[in-house]
Amino acid sequence: MKATALLFLAAACGLAQTGEMKLSVDATDAPRHVLHARITIPAKPGPMTLLYPEWIPGEHGPTGPVVDLVGLKFSANGQAIAWKRDAVNMYAFHVDVPAGASYVEAAYDFVLPPETGGFTSGASATTELAVLNWNQVLLYPEGVASDQLRLQANLKVPNGWKYGTALPIAHESGNEIQFEPSSLTTLIDSPVSAGAHYRTIELSPHEPGPKHYLHVAGDSDRAVELSDDLIEHYKNLVKETGALFGARHYRTYHFLLTLSDHVASFGLEHHESSDDRIGERGMIDEADRKNSADLLPHEFTHSWNGKYRRPAGLATPDYSEPMKGNLLWVYEGLTQYLGEILTPRSGLLSAEEFREELAMTAAALDTKSGRTWRPLEDTAVAAQLLYNTRDDYSAYRRGVDYYDEGTLIWLEADVLIRKLSKDKKSLNDFCRLFHGGQGGRPELKTYTFEDVVAGLNAVQAYDWAGFLRARLESTAAHAPLGGIENSGWKLTYSASRSSMWRSREEESKSANLMYSIGLKVSEEGSIGDVAVGGPAQKAGVSPATKLIAVNGRQFSTVVLREAIQAAVNKTAPIELLIKNGEYYQTFKIDYHGGELYPRLTRDESKPDVLSAIIEPLAK
Ligand SMILES: [Zn+2]
Repeated sequence: MKATALLFLAAACGLAQTGEMKLSVDATDAPRHVLHARITIPAKPGPMTLLYPEWIPGEHGPTGPVVDLVGLKFSANGQAIAWKRDAVNMYAFHVDVPAGASYVEAAYDFVLPPETGGFTSGASATTELAVLNWNQVLLYPEGVASDQLRLQANLKVPNGWKYGTALPIAHESGNEIQFEPSSLTTLIDSPVSAGAHYRTIELSPHEPGPKHYLHVAGDSDRAVELSDDLIEHYKNLVKETGALFGARHYRTYHFLLTLSDHVASFGLEHHESSDDRIGERGMIDEADRKNSADLLPHEFTHSWNGKYRRPAGLATPDYSEPMKGNLLWVYEGLTQYLGEILTPRSGLLSAEEFREELAMTAAALDTKSGRTWRPLEDTAVAAQLLYNTRDDYSAYRRGVDYYDEGTLIWLEADVLIRKLSKDKKSLNDFCRLFHGGQGGRPELKTYTFEDVVAGLNAVQAYDWAGFLRARLESTAAHAPLGGIENSGWKLTYSASRSSMWRSREEESKSANLMYSIGLKVSEEGSIGDVAVGGPAQKAGVSPATKLIAVNGRQFSTVVLREAIQAAVNKTAPIELLIKNGEYYQTFKIDYHGGELYPRLTRDESKPDVLSAIIEPLAK
């Protein structure tokens, strides 16, 4: 499908891209939140349209930060030329190339946003480090597929900074790097991280096949001091993916790990690298580390599931064609499952911690009121709307549930394959079949729903289309928990918080009481969400309000928890004084069930398949 689209575009526009584009980026002012760039683009006299990347791969939406492109000036033959933005497409700039010109040059700056979330449109630089995603600083000609556009890039980083990237380097001198020419697709797929506190660790020094590097940029020297044990776990991760997939679709692989409290926190996958960002102490504080333990396993898995194998609707020829997210429950959902099971397989979490995480996932999905109106498939179709939605009524809205519910569905499929094949086959076999192949370099093989069904059937015959459709289209009140239940475990609730639950609450500086009185509240008293139909909501409490006092005493999360515990042996309701706008009101919550937090409890009547699933594969 992609190849056909490429041929059509090239033929329809009559554009045979001959010359090579040249891009120079000066990142020496990154600590002052600005990048300077200059690009030279082969051109012919006459009207020409240049595009700024809009639909960013892996972000699943039109998130290109065009609003931060400033200082834009075009020239040709050394003369300034005027430009006009398209009246409808805010990412398109029209110029008239003068007679005799064979190139257009554009010079511009990119404003690096301070302290904002989002993906590559979010904060990406501090005084100590920066992550450059090339889509921030690029214009490209309309009408040519990104695979066909050739580009040679140069980058200048601040003096004394080290850097890492998957983009092959032709030459470096001082703080200037000249990269080998690549396609526009490869360039945008190959970010660069750089910093003053920077460490590069080789993760597969003695293994055959491609090399793997962990590049760590931190806001301090202390931040990048990973323990030897932790490095060993990441080395295990490399071995485990080899054992799982049986092939690697890259020349070398580079984890670009950024540790800062002042850049956006996220992970973004690429074919030969990943842009992984967590807090400054994310590798040295054990609780912080565990909260993000599956980040690198998830993003690394995407090299196979997302980059090499990609839903046809997400494999677009350039960055202006809208993406279709309907198969994100495979792209993200299967990646979420594999990332989570690779985490204990690599030693990044214990089996108990893995189960505590799984219990949290299952409980959140099992109690979401939004599942009765919004089928899972719609969360994937609407993905471009659902990243960065607000917290209020989020359980009623449903967010990007195709990640976590993907975990439940793919776990159920894994358990089912093991059961039907009498333990001869598992989802590991599907991964080898679907994501394996020759390897050795980046390649893209698109797939459809039918291809996924056929892949599953090739491992174990079953009505997989019916199995998947039922789960994608369901508006049942409860989540598909068959994977947990058939693997020998049960989702249960108890009054004590698990260790992973505690570290999540500490990280988010909030108390999650959704399964007892039915609300989430920050340490400052902001009520983020309520369980629709839960005790608090039935008593009249709404999100986006502020909890002031509990039973007449000033609110703290401890005071609230103790009030819930004390109510077990009383008949009087729990009284919450809440500020909504400028008005105060007391709500009486008639709840006496005590605190409730999820766990997985062993069901001894069934074999423990879950523990078998998280056993390491690599010997
Ligand atoms: Zn992902």
